[in-house]
Amino acid sequence: MKRKEDEKLIDKKGLRLDGRRLDEIRPIKIEVGFLEKANGSAYVEWGKNKILVAVYGPREVHPRHLTLTHRALFRCRYHMAPFSTEERKHPAPSRREVELSKVIRSALEPVVFTELYPRTGVDAFIEVLESDGGTRCAGITATSLALVDAGIPLKGLVAACAAGKIDGEVVLDLDGIEDQKGEADLPVAIAPRRNEVTLLQMDGIFSYDEFKKALGLAVEGCKRIHDMQKEALRRKYTIVKEENGMIDEEV
Ligand code: ADP
Repeated sequence: MKRKEDEKLIDKKGLRLDGRRLDEIRPIKIEVGFLEKANGSAYVEWGKNKILVAVYGPREVHPRHLTLTHRALFRCRYHMAPFSTEERKHPAPSRREVELSKVIRSALEPVVFTELYPRTGVDAFIEVLESDGGTRCAGITATSLALVDAGIPLKGLVAACAAGKIDGEVVLDLDGIEDQKGEADLPVAIAPRRNEVTLLQMDGIFSYDEFKKALGLAVEGCKRIHDMQKEALRRKYTIVKEENGMIDEEV
């Protein structure tokens, strides 16, 4: 979609180009256990992002020399499909994909009980099918669910969401055009049960007060995402037993 250079990202009513309020997250759909063959999987539609994650392990590590004797080796591979962007993306891994693979791994590693599985590997493949800004946050959110689906013991879920600055206003969850034209972006991931921040990146410039506001908004967004993750797990794992008219719910 072509837009004029001077077009505003926030209109006079205080709404963004897609009609969202400043503190609104894009519509999100989450499905856990999307794939048959992976040990664990999750599929997330987050606005116009479509992201599929497959998790394998604990399993033998290849190449073998990377095996760790005291814990599992946890690896993440973030990959954008060539058709995931407006202009075809070169299929070879870009520096950005290598960086995001590392960023996603370090956001999740603090919650994985790697010490329970020495000499094994846990691999997460994050496939971005369509992208529109915020794919690292959507990738972290989906990978955390795919790890649960694979039965990997976790200290808790990790939920991610970015805040940013557009037209001088602090807003939640930038989409592609806002990321491109906006002034700043602050992706955050939190492990709510441990009360920890596991990812904090910043691109652009905030004043100190804007930074505090953006961080607060991003953490609030992460908490909303965490609720959606729990709901998606409940949908997948709630077994309803109907016996003599009694309904027994197990999560
Ligand atoms: P994130 O997706 O986590 O926000 P970036 O800020 O690096 O990560 O990217 C913002 C958006 O820019 C991506 O979601 C994607 O839509 C787009 N983008 C990233 N890399 C490319 C690329 N090589 N070609 C076209 N668009 C890209």
